[in-house]
Amino acid sequence: MRITDVRFERLHGTYRTSAGHSVARQVGALDVYPEYRGRRPQAGDVYDDLGERPISEVYVFVDTDEGITGTFGPIYVDQAFQIDLHLRQHLIGKDPLATERIWDILSRQDRHARRGYMMMAISAVDMCLWDIRGKAAGLPVYRLLGGPTRDAIPAYVSTLGHATEPERVFSQARAYLEEGYTAQKWFFPCGPGDGQAGIETNMAMVRAAREAVGDASELMFDAWLGWDVPYAIEMGRRMAPYNPAWLEEPVAPDRIGAYAEIRRATGIPIAGGEHEYTRWGFKVLLDAEGVDVIQADPDWTGGITEMLKICALVSAYDKPVIPHGHSTLPALHLIAAQSPAVCPRLEFLIVHNPSKQWFHTEQFFPEGGMMRLPQTPGLGITLDEDRIESRTPLSWR
Ligand SMILES: [Mg+2]
Repeated sequence: MRITDVRFERLHGTYRTSAGHSVARQVGALDVYPEYRGRRPQAGDVYDDLGERPISEVYVFVDTDEGITGTFGPIYVDQAFQIDLHLRQHLIGKDPLATERIWDILSRQDRHARRGYMMMAISAVDMCLWDIRGKAAGLPVYRLLGGPTRDAIPAYVSTLGHATEPERVFSQARAYLEEGYTAQKWFFPCGPGDGQAGIETNMAMVRAAREAVGDASELMFDAWLGWDVPYAIEMGRRMAPYNPAWLEEPVAPDRIGAYAEIRRATGIPIAGGEHEYTRWGFKVLLDAEGVDVIQADPDWTGGITEMLKICALVSAYDKPVIPHGHSTLPALHLIAAQSPAVCPRLEFLIVHNPSKQWFHTEQFFPEGGMMRLPQTPGLGITLDEDRIESRTPLSWR
């Protein structure tokens, strides 16, 4: 089998939702500047019960001479640009089943390929190649990886985009518990620039979530790069009585010493790694004893090929890998093929998944807190022609 083309399309349609979620304040790295701290809404925010709105998403397609096409998306247009300009020339004519060889070539073809958008581009290509492998074998990807290790995967609900006012947190956290989720993650609205009042606002969210779920659910909290060391230690001291399962990304990902310092000072498990790349990045993080939970994202960190190596590495440190859930299917396949001791559960971004899966014929949402496994060959992304109103081919060559 040979690769004959690598293509990109922006799909356009109309997204319809009946889910009501408010515009949420979420702390972030730019919050050190007042003009950013005050901005509403922020990237990643969603709106109350929009009914319908235009939606457009970018997909990458890898065609082969045997009529099998690998499909992956949605991806950022920045990834498509990198693939088209830099990676495509190394793919045409190659054997798509030789995923290890292609990953190695793509990671060596440019000295800047080790991180950032180029590694994210390699990740997207790798997804297409695994989709081709699965379709060629007539098996879902997790079967090729040695799974399933379980019939269904426990999911934790990630509430990015939810309102953080205590009364809304309380009712939503209780609703998720009643739905069957045994773990949920909330996002802090405030950071150092918001002063003492912000600490109280953050703590009101923590208290409301814990009061809503009692001891029946694990609770995790995400600071999304928005804090500094003193603030994280102060928040950690206040949060500790509420028994958080982890504190996520309290500072920017390159501040590895700060991660270790916060971890030692608070005694709270630290989660991170969704913005880290490849096994070499994670080895530094692990050796520094900066993290307890590794959150590599298959979509960004090097694809399924690299995730297998990251899981092997992390398991030797006896830490869990709970992949970041930027898109659900790649993480689902990976987790389904790893020991429950290595990958215990799936992150499910409950507000964002319906739009990310909008153009797919088969959509994956947890039921009773559990995610079923895909049964179709490949990754399981089939585009729903009824929802595609138009397509714009993308090319930068
Ligand atoms: Mg996060």
